[in-house]
Amino acid sequence: MKQIRTVHDLAVRGAVPAFNEPLHVGRPNLATRDDFMRLTQEIYERRWLTNNGPLVQEFESAVCRRLGVRHCVAMCNGTVALEIAIRALGLTGEVILPSWTFVASAHALHWQALTPVFADIDPSTHNIDPDAVRRLITPRTSGILGVHLWGRPAPVDDLQSIADEFGLQLLFDAAHAFDCSLGARTVGTFGRCEVLSFHATKVLNSMEGGAVVTQDSELADAMRLMRNFGFRGYDDVAYPGTNGKMVEVCAAMGLVNLASLDEFVTCNRQNYEAYSDAFSNLSGASVLKFSPADRSNFHYVVVELDDEFAHKRDEIVSALHAENVLARRYFWPGCHKMSPYRELQPSASLWLERTEAVSRKVVVLPTGPSVSLSDIEIISDVVRVVLTES
Ligand SMILES: *Cc1c(COP(=O)(O)O)cnc(C)c1O
Repeated sequence: MKQIRTVHDLAVRGAVPAFNEPLHVGRPNLATRDDFMRLTQEIYERRWLTNNGPLVQEFESAVCRRLGVRHCVAMCNGTVALEIAIRALGLTGEVILPSWTFVASAHALHWQALTPVFADIDPSTHNIDPDAVRRLITPRTSGILGVHLWGRPAPVDDLQSIADEFGLQLLFDAAHAFDCSLGARTVGTFGRCEVLSFHATKVLNSMEGGAVVTQDSELADAMRLMRNFGFRGYDDVAYPGTNGKMVEVCAAMGLVNLASLDEFVTCNRQNYEAYSDAFSNLSGASVLKFSPADRSNFHYVVVELDDEFAHKRDEIVSALHAENVLARRYFWPGCHKMSPYRELQPSASLWLERTEAVSRKVVVLPTGPSVSLSDIEIISDVVRVVLTES
């Protein structure tokens, strides 16, 4: 692998790329193949492929134990899990959420014929700002959808006070935050319920998959019906449900990966620290910090440029891509600037100033077991060269 010392070493200038194989953000974390194969053999022998099979039940129990929550309702993906949670909570009218999130958070609301109302963030944490939420409450507001962005818990206590004061439902999109905590309190236990994603790119993957976790038995029962067309028994339909079921082969993947989760997180933490060290010597950019009091999965390495260097963001992304480092600008430019929200709510920019400022200066770098410490040196060098040479 090549070292990057000057702008002339950059592949964008015609030099050879630093990496032969692409380094992806969100490359799947995979446990040993043998364990997965053993479970898929068992699926074959049982001929029980879906419809609340034994592996789905085992996966749900394993998630409950890991997070210390009472109920886990596994689903086919996180987006459908969000929609089912939204339905089960009976949300109507407007729901307040951050714009600075993956667009599925907003789409799940829109798809259920609700209006997502976008609140600004606290730029120091990238999470929704409770004061901004307060300002957006109207008589049509029925709920708040918090997002634990990058695995950092949203301000759950402030949001809960607002929800209590105004009689709103509070739920969380915890797609980034599996195995994270706020102090001693684990993500999964906040609000009425929390929604997980086990998509291939997440820290824990079941290929595709998701779940709603909750402490509320009635809510869990309602969601179990909703994910299976509302069937209470043979021929007995109690609810207008959909098909949100997780299949056995996905549960098998989730189970084996859950058994290796500590290894993935250890590796992520080492990478995160290496990136943080490399960037601490570099002026113009820093790695977003987590609170040492909280537990993080360190699945996202978020680099934030200083305001004076924000104009270099796209140049950094292009230089990294040229080296075969597939860094990403997510969640640029913010949900409110994506269709259909930019057409439906064209003035949202007026109260999303901090979201827009942050969205212009963030780059997410690859991590996980396929990224080595020497890769991180090279990746940091590319960023340094672009920042220091004009
Ligand atoms: C990944 C993700 C989702 C959607 O999950 P899927 O399982 O891909 O449907 C929702 N919200 C956030 C914040 C996500 O990152």
